[in-house]
Parts: sequence; C-alpha cells; structure tokens
Amino acid sequence: STGEGEGYLARLNPEQRTAIETTDGPLLVLAGAGTGKTRVLTTRFAHILLTERAKPWQILAVTFTNKAAREMRERVGVILGEAVEGLWLGTFHALCARMLRRHAEYAGLTQSFTILDTDDQMRLLKQVMEPWQLDTKRWPAPGLMGVIQRWKDRGLTPARVTDADDTDFANGHARAIYTAYQTRLRDLNACDFGDLMLHVTEILRTRPDVLEQYHRLFRYILVDEYQDTNTVQYLWLRLLAKRSGTQSNICCVGDDDQSIYSWRGAEVENILRFEKDFPGAQIVRLERNYRSTQHILGAAAGLIAHNGERLGKTLRSGKDDASGEKVRVTGVWDSDTEARAVCDAAESFRAKGASLAEMAILVRAGFQTRAFEERLVQTGLPYRIVGGVRFYERTEIRDALAYMRILHQPADDLAFERIINVPKRGVGPAGLQKLHAAARARQVPLAAGTQALVAEGGLKGKMGAEITKLMDALSSTRDILVREGHVVALEFLLEESGYLDMWRNDRSVEAPGRLENLKELTRALADFGTLGEFLEHVALVMEHDENAGDAKLSLMTLHGAKGLEFDIVFLPGWEEGVFPSQRTLDEGGLKGLEEERRLAYVGITRAKKHALIYHADRRRIYANWQPSMPSRFLDELPEEHVVRKNNGGTQPRGLNLSESVFDNGPLTSRRRQDPLAASTTLPNFQLGDQVRHPRFGVGVIIGADRHQLEVIFESGATKRLLSSFIEKV
Ligand code: ATP
Ligand code: MG
Repeated sequence: STGEGEGYLARLNPEQRTAIETTDGPLLVLAGAGTGKTRVLTTRFAHILLTERAKPWQILAVTFTNKAAREMRERVGVILGEAVEGLWLGTFHALCARMLRRHAEYAGLTQSFTILDTDDQMRLLKQVMEPWQLDTKRWPAPGLMGVIQRWKDRGLTPARVTDADDTDFANGHARAIYTAYQTRLRDLNACDFGDLMLHVTEILRTRPDVLEQYHRLFRYILVDEYQDTNTVQYLWLRLLAKRSGTQSNICCVGDDDQSIYSWRGAEVENILRFEKDFPGAQIVRLERNYRSTQHILGAAAGLIAHNGERLGKTLRSGKDDASGEKVRVTGVWDSDTEARAVCDAAESFRAKGASLAEMAILVRAGFQTRAFEERLVQTGLPYRIVGGVRFYERTEIRDALAYMRILHQPADDLAFERIINVPKRGVGPAGLQKLHAAARARQVPLAAGTQALVAEGGLKGKMGAEITKLMDALSSTRDILVREGHVVALEFLLEESGYLDMWRNDRSVEAPGRLENLKELTRALADFGTLGEFLEHVALVMEHDENAGDAKLSLMTLHGAKGLEFDIVFLPGWEEGVFPSQRTLDEGGLKGLEEERRLAYVGITRAKKHALIYHADRRRIYANWQPSMPSRFLDELPEEHVVRKNNGGTQPRGLNLSESVFDNGPLTSRRRQDPLAASTTLPNFQLGDQVRHPRFGVGVIIGADRHQLEVIFESGATKRLLSSFIEKV
C-alpha cells in the first residue's frame, strides 16, 4: 500500500508546499497558531523519505511533548503507508537520553547510568550540602536546586560557570556545591534530568569525533515549537546543524506569540536570531489558518496586538465564515456558578450532537480544576485530566486531607502515619516502630499512643521536640475547631504543623502551585458544614472512576494545551489575580504580563468553532467572598468579535444565598489577600494599626501573637482573629 501516496502534497497551500519542498538549506517557518506548522513538519518528514533524500534514521526530529512525538510518528506512518522504525524522533530529553547511552563514558558514566527522580535529586543535594553547614532556612536545598537547574538550562557545567554567572545564593558557595553535586552524581553513575541535555551538549562541544559522527548521520533536522527552546537546547541544535563546508538542512517551526515557557529558561530570542545563526536561511510565513473561525482569530489577534515585543504576523481564516460564532464572554456570579455554567454549556453542545472528546476546559492554574472536577462528577459528564493529577490525588492535597482526617478521627492510624514525618520531624523507621509499640502496649490508636509517650517524656532529641510540637498543634487545633469552625482550624493546623512552611521553603517550580491548591482546598471546605461532611464528599469524588470507552471532555492547563486543538474550548477564570496570575501582578514587570497574554492567545487559538470565556464576580478566599475584577485581557478583545453577557450581578435562582456573601461588605483592594503566603511573624502589623476585617469592619490592633491579632472593633467588640483575614487601612 502507498498510504496517502502522491496526494500528500496536493492538499497543501503554496506556502506550505514551499516549506516542505525546500528541503535543502536552513529554513524557518514563522507562523501563527493553527497555520499548519506541525503539519508541515510532519509532511516534510514524509516527503524527505518518499523522495529518498534520506533514510528514516537520518532525520532528527524534535517535538515538545512525547504525545506530539507519537502523533508525528503515526502521521508519517499514514503518509508512507507503513510504520517506520529506528527514528530519531522525540523530545529533547528523550533524544539526549539515547545519545548519552551511546557516549556515557565521555561524561564519566557507564552505559547503564540511572536517571534520578526529583526526590532522589533533592536527597542527594542535601547530603552534598552538609559540609558547608549552611543555614538551611535561609538557603534551602530546593532553592539551590533551582540555581543549578537554571545553570544547566544555560549549558553551564561547573567549569563553565563564570563569576558573572555566579549568584549570592548559599553565601557564594553555589558553584562549589554544584561541582560537588556533579561529582557525587558521577560517583553514583547517575544523572539528573537536566544532565541529559547538559552532558550531551558538552560532549558535542569537546569531542569533535563524536560531533562528526552525528554530522554524518543526520542529514535533516526538524524542530517543532522552536520559540520555547532554552539555551542548552539551542546550543545542542546548533552544534548538530552547523557543519563546516556544507549548509545546514535544519527546519524549525515556531510562533513567537506562543512562547510561554520563559519560566523554564526558554529564550524566545533563539527564534529571532535564526537568520544570523544560519546565514542564507529562508523564512517562510504561513498566514492561512485552518483551525479557527474568523471571529476566534480576530479576537486572538486583537488580544496579542497589545504585546510590544513581536515579530508581527497576519492570520486569515481558511474556514467558511458564514456559520462562525463570536467569542462568548460570560460574567458569572461566583466560582461555583462558573463551574455550573461551563458544564451546562458542555451538556447543551452535546445535546446538539457535539462530542465531549472535542471539548476542553483550559485553566490558568491547577487549583482551578477542583470546582470543575466536582461539577463534572455531579453531572456525570465523563472527563479526563490531561497532563496532570486529579485534584484530590495531588500530594499536597492528600497530605492536607490526612491532617484533616486525624483531626476528625484520631484513630485514623493511616492518616497519622502519612503526616507524622511530613514535614520532616526526624521520624525514621525506628522512630515509627517506637510509636507503634507505645500504641500497642496501651491498646490505643497511634496518635493516642504517641501523645502518651510525649506526656511521659519518652521521646528525646529533635524527634521528641518536633513530635511534641505536632501534638500540641493538634490539640490547639481541636479548640479552634470548636471556637472558630473547620476552615480556620485547617488553616491553623497546616500553619502550626509546619506543613505550609515546608512548601514555602521549597523553591521548585511546582511549589507555588501546591500552595495555591491548598488554598483552594480550604475554599472547598467552606462549602461544607462540618469536617465530616467534607471528608465524606471527598471520598465520593475520589471514588468516581473514569469510564475508559467513553468520549471524554479534557480538563488541562493552558501550558499543557500547546499545539492541541478542539472544536469547543472553555476558558474560565479570566480575572485579575487568576489570569493574569497574582504572581505576575506582584512582580509588576511588563515581560511577565506579556507572557500571560501569549498564554491567553494560546488558549483562544486552541478553539476551532467555539471559544467561551468566563469570569466570576466573586471568588472565595477561605471562608470569605471577595469581589474579583474581570481580567484586563477581556478589555483587549475587539468588540466586533465577541458577545458579552453578564450574569454576575444577579444571583442565580435556586441557589441558597449564604449569609457570608453580603456580610463581608465591599472590599476595594484589587490585590488579593494571600493568607498562605503571609509570614508567620506578622511583620506587617503593629499594635495600634487600624485594620479592616471583612465581617467585623474597622478596628484597632490591641494585641498580637504568632498567628492571631487581638482587635477592638468600632462596635466595641474585641476579637482574636487570624491575620489572614485582616487588612490594614
Ligand atoms: P499551533 O501553532 O497551535 O501548534 P500549527 O501551526 O502547528 O498550530 P497544525 O496543528 O499543524 O497548526 O494545523 C492546524 C489544523 O489545520 C490541523 O487540524 C491541520 O490538520 C489543519 N491543516 C493544516 N494545513 C491544512 C491544509 N492545507 N488544508 C487543510 N487543513 C490543514
Ligand atoms: Mg503545532
């Protein structure tokens, strides 16, 4: 069989054909979303094989995700009419892992080296740091890991880190620790994820014989999503592509407007200097968009036009416009109503014949998925979480749930075991055995046995002190639970147990998201009358398992949606502080804001037929509702391409209006209060400060301890309150 055979070129437009048939020499395809860049790359791959310019293993093709690699392999197979084997087709990391196995000895490793996971990496780094005796509160290991990863992203081996690259981190010892860490890895015959790129690039830089092998091997190089390559990936590509005496057959496709990974070291400048790197490079621009209707494109184009630093591109819809619907912007009452509105809309699209497989909810941050997951479970709409873990299965959520379970049910030994050493309290296997023995001897649950040991002074050293602190925290939390309710109690316990500090001190890129998820958890908790009701609800949601065969709606982050497309795309949470994110607003720079705007552009351009944007008028921050402002991006959408509807001012019928919505009174601050990010020492408050509490109004601080402020209010009432809910006026 010949598969699609000759026809594979016929259905392409002239610019696409040029991009495919210009096989020799450097080529950059610079084009907007949905113009067929990925399709060009795939067809080019097949074209090179069909015209016998190279054997399958002589083409190096780089994709951004493993999923994209699979898809490209399949599509090439379809065009060729047979599956092809032995391809150098995959992500940067997958390709480098394969190369490193071939040349491990040049990196001081053997072929069977292991790749450490992040936990192992961190444990190793901590060991390596010990001799420096750093103050780990000030210089936590995850922070140093971040520094090392950024160096690796930039292709800097320890020897290549110059004084100019060095940082103040770890009192100026970062470079020395990095050196020790790399040595230790080598001794263990191991490498971390970042080393895959770093080692291979270093080998190519220093071993001309190896580089020569690859120059002979790879006749063609294809790269997707070029705008998101970081420095070391760029160096690796340039080394492989640049052959003296011959021109480079490298073809990169990308879109500067979709550069959304600068936080992981991506450098959009790489795309801008392609012509300099590869003299004589041809640039092909694709302007016809085959994905979206004119209104969707118009809205996306109007939005991205607000960015200053752009190469500038035009996009025309290749689709018949007559049936095109405008982008729908809907204001809703609150975050729960938002989840309801999205699921209702998905239902009605389905009732009209659309498949759930062609629908996606794209969120800015992982915490947002919680409300949708619950609503989807309630309505029975099949869904899948793409590129992520279901909300209640995330590590930090399971930890926090374990803390709640032990509050609710002191005999829950499993929950106690989960949290006893999280954060680290020096409880190893031997320590745990001792606690179990104490419980068995007294025939009581683990927590009670531990409490008894503490009371007798049976636990010594760091472990003794830390466990005592935990048991004290649990017992004060039980008082708070009675006096102030379950939401405040959970917040207090996570704080007092040191759990929140554990994530605050964690400098990994996931840590801020975990803190947000924890905030979202307390928000969810506020919907329930008691801890017990909430835990039962969670058990039910977790029970819900996915029906393998059904078409499913996709729920994922905007970052994870890059390169994908759906008929119907729901874009919730377009509010200041959610999207653009609070962190971006806090940092205040234009660069961050422009990256958020590119992310918004990526979101809208995933839609083929319908794009529906939502913003809520209020979001719950802990037990309190706070007004939220519509995202500035909404103002930037051109009127002629959107229809706006606001249900926000009117309360949805059939909803039981909880007292708290109105009790809070208006808060004018655009900035959100961020209790979990607040320091424990209350540096922002002083005795005598005038403050405002959402429920009790204006008052003056008359006392304070680590967590609570004593405030006398205008009404004459005196209250002890968590600072999280208090705003200075
Ligand atoms: P993104 O920037 O989002 O990654 P892209 O530029 O890679 O987008 P593709 O995903 O390759 O775009 O293509 C978008 C859609 O348009 C796909 O469904 C693709 O099959 C279709 N398409 C591309 N070129 C043509 C064409 N010439 N005729 C018909 N459909 C096309
Ligand atoms: Mg693409």
